[in-house]
Amino acid sequence: MELSSYLYKAVDAIRQWEASWGAFAPHDAMAADAGRVEEALGRYLERLEGNYPFFHPRYAGQMLKPPHPAAVVGYLAAMLINPNNHALDGGPPTGAMEKEVVRRLAGLFSFPEDALGHLTGGGTMANLEALFVARQLHPDRAVAFSADAHYTHARMCDVLGLATVEVEADGEGRMRLDRLEEAIETREVGTVVVTAGTTGVGVVDPIAEIAALAAAHGVRVHVDAAYGGFFALLAGEEGSSPLGASTRRHLRAIASCDSVAIDPHKHGLQPYGCGCILFRDPGVGRFYKHDSPYTYFTSNELHLGEISLECSRPGAAAGALWLTLEVLPLEPGRGLGPILAASLRAARDWHERLHTAELLAPYQAPELDIVTFFPRARPHAVSAVDEAAAALFRRAMDDPEDPLFLSVLRVDAGRLAAASAPGLHLDRPTARVLRSVLMKPEHERYVPHLHETVSRHAAAILSEPKRRSGSA
Ligand SMILES: *Cc1c(COP(=O)(O)O)cnc(C)c1O
Repeated sequence: MELSSYLYKAVDAIRQWEASWGAFAPHDAMAADAGRVEEALGRYLERLEGNYPFFHPRYAGQMLKPPHPAAVVGYLAAMLINPNNHALDGGPPTGAMEKEVVRRLAGLFSFPEDALGHLTGGGTMANLEALFVARQLHPDRAVAFSADAHYTHARMCDVLGLATVEVEADGEGRMRLDRLEEAIETREVGTVVVTAGTTGVGVVDPIAEIAALAAAHGVRVHVDAAYGGFFALLAGEEGSSPLGASTRRHLRAIASCDSVAIDPHKHGLQPYGCGCILFRDPGVGRFYKHDSPYTYFTSNELHLGEISLECSRPGAAAGALWLTLEVLPLEPGRGLGPILAASLRAARDWHERLHTAELLAPYQAPELDIVTFFPRARPHAVSAVDEAAAALFRRAMDDPEDPLFLSVLRVDAGRLAAASAPGLHLDRPTARVLRSVLMKPEHERYVPHLHETVSRHAAAILSEPKRRSGSA
């Protein structure tokens, strides 16, 4: 999809629509000097060149990539009008589109037809809304989450004044069921937060078992699927799926949970500013009740501002997601499905290569599309692994011929030893390892090059005479 021609088409269409309302003279105060615009734009574009190449498969670091052209065109067209999805009066078309995309996202998790939800500024806001509802329902009961859950849960519980229970994670970063059971039996837990795809290594908590345990104790379950939620597309029972059987089972179990946060601005091809919260029980809308003297005058239908903690929200975000899902539907076999499947295959392929590599070793097998690994440093000690990983990260990025961008993850030394480096001398409590989120389908063909390049850097680093100790 070639962006420029569609951008012109969108701008022209909106300008024509504007013209249909009758001509008026723009105010002089709005005029901008053409020379000044040229000059400032030049400087602006130059400054943007300071970015890392998120669009290119050589960027294999954090969860970052540009939006799909459909999202850009959809966003731009609506942004020229700038509807505010706070109320239907702020922009009836994008308000209606928001309800449609929310319904589709609810369908992704087999939530009921009348599930309540809306778009948010991102995963943080979506999770905050879920925890806010958790507090309204159980003001005196704690929220339990795993030690490997996103840090936002502890922070937002603090904001809301909610007690928390941190539940230990297992060696791969999944919430331990036995520890959760202990927590539920010894503490007044009102809600448990499970993660469908942890931000660090991308593992899915045992949601099926947790949901059953929680139901038996009258505890609510909120799913933080900000990063991993879209993989539920590939969790169907039939046909071949690049997801493992247990991953599919746990993603399907989201259907029985009380709320879900999902980020279209991560795996949904959207620009930043697009998260979503979904509630199974539409009755929770009562907690948002408020009277605003400013809005809500043209319709008796539900205004999304009535069920959202945020007030003004971009109608353009809803429009962008709507257009994207029309072009690339939420289906396993076309649209978004094959994009996600390619990322999963890329991660598995790289993991296989790391497994048999001479100078590199995988930290953990990828459950979704995050690959983690470390250099086989000598001496066989945590400090050596840590320093070699940091050096490799730098060296790959600084290579002027063929730069490659990874990210670094700090892991527990005991876990590192247990998972993948038996006999490792534990001379430090934590170590940095390398982490790559392979979230672009183009990574599938690029993995051989990624692996060769990283192996070459590892060889150079590991053959260097002993570096200054403590150089990090
Ligand atoms: C990214 C992420 C968040 C935070 O979402 P933002 O969109 O960055 O606000 C929360 N939880 C998980 C699991 C995430 O991956």
